[in-house]
Amino acid sequence: MQKKTRFPAQILPSVAAPKNAPVRVAGGLSAAIAQTVPSTAIQRGVSGYSSMVASQPVGAISASSQQAARERMVKRLAVLDGVHPAVIEAMRLVPRHTFIDSALVAKAYEENSLPIGYGQTISKPGVVARMLSLIMHVYAHAGARIPGRLLEVGTGCGYQAAVMSHLATEVYSIERVRGLHERARDNLRPLRVSNLHLLFGDGMAGFPSGGPYAAIISAAGGEAIPQAWTDQLAMGGRIVAPTSTDGGRQVLIVIDKTPSGLRQQALEAVHFVPLKSGVD
Ligand code: SAH
Repeated sequence: MQKKTRFPAQILPSVAAPKNAPVRVAGGLSAAIAQTVPSTAIQRGVSGYSSMVASQPVGAISASSQQAARERMVKRLAVLDGVHPAVIEAMRLVPRHTFIDSALVAKAYEENSLPIGYGQTISKPGVVARMLSLIMHVYAHAGARIPGRLLEVGTGCGYQAAVMSHLATEVYSIERVRGLHERARDNLRPLRVSNLHLLFGDGMAGFPSGGPYAAIISAAGGEAIPQAWTDQLAMGGRIVAPTSTDGGRQVLIVIDKTPSGLRQQALEAVHFVPLKSGVD
């Protein structure tokens, strides 16, 4: 029986994740496989990441100039309205340049969305900061320091998932394009993030065995919020997802699960890649 997660959804890592076990993703995808980023030890915090950056060649651009560019990026983001300090701290720790094609590393810390292959893009840093801050603020109001389980739909290159791993006890991230799922796994391997679980499958069905989730974030925009997501959301939890309006615009939708029902807000216009069903 699944343990009920109370708000603020906090769980211990030891009871959380199906480690390296095949997992069937709801929706009947027999090929769906859960993969945990392999790790012998949790290496979080500045020392783990800075040693990784120092040892990784990044073409003509030195590791120290990448780090300086990352500092400039976080300083720029930190002054934006509503950005949560924990998100800034997490973004300071994740080497964004290691998630993108080597030809694009010079742009890694600029306010750009960049191609990651398969017709998909990594979101602009400001958009990542905005979406993650929207979930952190829920917890700030509840007086909790760190959310429990998070679900990301649309792993892409794995960058946002890596940032999320610093913000929660357990993170599940699901991707429908096998090539990207594998790329994210390769990108994340050197970071040794033991609380991040990568899944291959159709995220429109969510991932019931990882839930209930404190928050669900979609990196792709659909026509509506799938019911599976609201079903898998913990009481007090929040969904943040780009969604098309009747007028054909895409806006950021926030849904809060409250004891009196689901509360929905439509925020600013955004431009995300489409949420698609099935897998490629
Ligand atoms: N968070 C990512 C952004 C990736 S772009 C990053 O940091 O790189 C959005 C991703 O959503 C794409 O990789 C796309 O393939 C994926 N996607 C679209 N529909 C999906 C679905 N139904 N299930 C899982 N992933 C989906």
